[in-house]
Amino acid sequence: MSDIVEIARLIRPYLDNLVDESEVARWNQRISELLAVDSAGEQVDDRLRALFLAHPVVQNWVADTLGDPDLRPPEVVAGLSTRGEPPAGDRVGSRLQQYVCPVNQCTKWYRVSSSEVVPRCTDHGEVLIEVRR
Ligand SMILES: [Zn+2]
Repeated sequence: MSDIVEIARLIRPYLDNLVDESEVARWNQRISELLAVDSAGEQVDDRLRALFLAHPVVQNWVADTLGDPDLRPPEVVAGLSTRGEPPAGDRVGSRLQQYVCPVNQCTKWYRVSSSEVVPRCTDHGEVLIEVRR
């Protein structure tokens, strides 16, 4: 899986904060479509990049996440530093709890704190499940 496809799975729980409320559904639909095309074996990196470039706030979020060695969203990095963890490096990412959509892993999410409510997958309505590693 390419980094940009990974980003597409990671961004979904944060779309509410990144784009206008009226546009969230359209963004989710577009990302969902492209992830389905990716699952079918077709290259979608360029289309995902073009989509993300179309929105400055999303573009910044994607750049921040791509800039993290473990592809952690900026909200996760900020949450870790609030918790007193080193903000970068040192395998911090590997110690985070990872959650994915139980249907087809179309959404991926890192839980920073046990007080955070585990989100549901926008496409399937299922609560994300923890990845056992
Ligand atoms: Zn799903």
